[in-house]
Amino acid sequence: MDKLINGKEVSKKIREELKKEIESFPRKPSLVVIQVGNDSASEIYVKNKEKAALEIGIDFKHIKYEENVKEEEIINKIKELNDNDDIDGILVQLPLPKHLNETKIINTIDPNKDVDGLTITNMGKLMNKMDGLVSCTPLGVIELLKAYNVEIKGKHVIIVGRSNLVGKPLIHLFLNNDATVTVCHSKTENLSEYTKQADILVVAVGKKNLITRDMVKKDAVVIDVGINREDGKIYGDVYYLDVFDKVSLITPVPGGVGPMTVTMLFKNVIKSYKNKITSK
Ligand code: NAD
Repeated sequence: MDKLINGKEVSKKIREELKKEIESFPRKPSLVVIQVGNDSASEIYVKNKEKAALEIGIDFKHIKYEENVKEEEIINKIKELNDNDDIDGILVQLPLPKHLNETKIINTIDPNKDVDGLTITNMGKLMNKMDGLVSCTPLGVIELLKAYNVEIKGKHVIIVGRSNLVGKPLIHLFLNNDATVTVCHSKTENLSEYTKQADILVVAVGKKNLITRDMVKKDAVVIDVGINREDGKIYGDVYYLDVFDKVSLITPVPGGVGPMTVTMLFKNVIKSYKNKITSK
């Protein structure tokens, strides 16, 4: 099992450190999660965040709106939270229902409280290698690679997926770590011609078993971000059993990137809390 990148274990260690750090703070850092509607995956994600937040000592508030909520109501709530000094982090659980303008809502969040790193300010900071809040899943991917001493510098990284949440921030995180980066997406022709070149292959698509044995290079490091639910089970985007003995390291799904995402969220909440204290 020494090929396994155990996100659960790495996560546990980081969360223990964060918990200790929080115990030394005069007040608990606080996170507000805004959820709209009853998307079943979102329900699970928000519950998981709440449970884990309480475990490490983060004050967690959950604001839930009906599916048909007016955009203005959410915008006004975010403005109110921006102005509230007791709130350190604001996260809008995605996806939002179609009638809501996701970009407008996200960019109403004060960039200093944008713990998902999705505002144009934080995205721009990342592009410019400036200190800001970075999207949690991409941060988690880099932390996992570092935890397993995977050299990133000079390596050819192939990212499959170009979303604002995962693929795009990853491009810059890898570039900032001196990798050579290629990005593939839904319109890429001959996907396997690219994936086969990867020293580090990161897949964030949302299609079970998209990546098979013939599509990976021998001894590649494979990071599977995908989450696909089928018959009550969770699968990644990589056909894990098919590629396992060909690669040098691989994340399982579940238990790989997922736990790191939540851990990085807490890291961001603490960062935002500390920035506020030091800027006073
Ligand atoms: P998204 O739907 O926004 O983006 C998917 C990307 O995949 C797009 O850029 C698209 O171009 C690309 N794509 C689609 N079909 C493709 C194909 N056949 N070949 C190559 N590329 C293709 O999704 P997202 O928010 O980036 O999430 C991607 C996956 O990662 C989902 O399964 C999601 O559930 C999962 N996810 C996991 C975590 C975690 O913590 N583990 C966090 C976020 C997202």
